[in-house]
Amino acid sequence: MSKPAADPPDNGEEIYDILLVDDQPIIAEAIKRMLVTEPDMRFHYCQASDRALQLAHEIQPTVILQDLVMPDTDGMQLLAAYRNDAALSEVPVVILSTKEDPHDKSAAFAAGASDYLVKIPDRIELIARIRAHSRSYLSQKQRDELLQEIKIVHEQLKAVYAQLHQSHQELEKLSCMDGLTGISNRRHFDTYFSQEWLRALREKISTSLILVDIDYFKLYNDHYGHQAGDLCLQAIAQALADTLQRPGDLAARYGGEEFVVLLPYTDAKGAENIAKQLLDTVKKLAVAHAQSPIDAHVTISLGVATLTPDSSVAPSDLVQIADTALYQAKEQGRNRYVLADISLLPKAPRPKAKVKTRKPR
Ligand SMILES: [Mg+2]
Repeated sequence: MSKPAADPPDNGEEIYDILLVDDQPIIAEAIKRMLVTEPDMRFHYCQASDRALQLAHEIQPTVILQDLVMPDTDGMQLLAAYRNDAALSEVPVVILSTKEDPHDKSAAFAAGASDYLVKIPDRIELIARIRAHSRSYLSQKQRDELLQEIKIVHEQLKAVYAQLHQSHQELEKLSCMDGLTGISNRRHFDTYFSQEWLRALREKISTSLILVDIDYFKLYNDHYGHQAGDLCLQAIAQALADTLQRPGDLAARYGGEEFVVLLPYTDAKGAENIAKQLLDTVKKLAVAHAQSPIDAHVTISLGVATLTPDSSVAPSDLVQIADTALYQAKEQGRNRYVLADISLLPKAPRPKAKVKTRKPR
């Protein structure tokens, strides 16, 4: 192995390392002389075939010039060894042969040689081929490294995206949830009602809504304290949500001790059934209410309204007639449901309105 033939240029240009593997020092001397004037080329020489792989690992050549006939081995065996070595498999190998033999040439290319030259090659041609193979090898190497970096960054981005997606879903869930009772909050109800209203309008199907109020809840709070009041709200909320069996049905906290139940694709008969079940479920909870003038346990009143949306009614109309029905249920002694009177609806056509619901009492 020789020392570098010339000092490399210090202008940021690529340096090409050429490893010649040939048993004849006279060939090495001839080729070294051809390359010595080239400032971008460093010449390395290996005489013994059994050291070729090790030297190639040390030097990391951009081109290997490989003698075809050597003692103990031949150039084709070494070529196969380079190709089977992960660190060398892409390094261009130029076979140096003593004769122009089509059979050898074809075998060399089939085994992965990049080029085939007859000794001793013409200087201009040798330099041109070394440069072309080295450039192509180095730029391919850079592309591979870049691709590898891109793959790593891509994997990192994927992991970050997955985390963001999960956080977003958790936030979304939290922003839809009522903090005290764990069921849907008013905000989520408004959004959901808006969507379902439009769907019912398109498909001309009836939608039902039930407003639920806990009877004498102020007396309950005054008597048992606010902590017990919160537990009572949680129990009622959970009971309402548990009563709803269909995936499209929604129970939400409307505010204070009021709840709302939305029943898409539900007619008046179906809504009345649900109202009965809700009354029954709360009754079975049997939460003691010593101050209630009407029962020993906590009870609820319900206003039940059903509409098939058209352009003459707005979502707020459904809430309004349910509210009127709830008021009537209270007037009639509480612990009951009242079905809304649809004739109370405004008659005149009105522009389409967004969901606008009243403030809870
Ligand atoms: Mg030889």
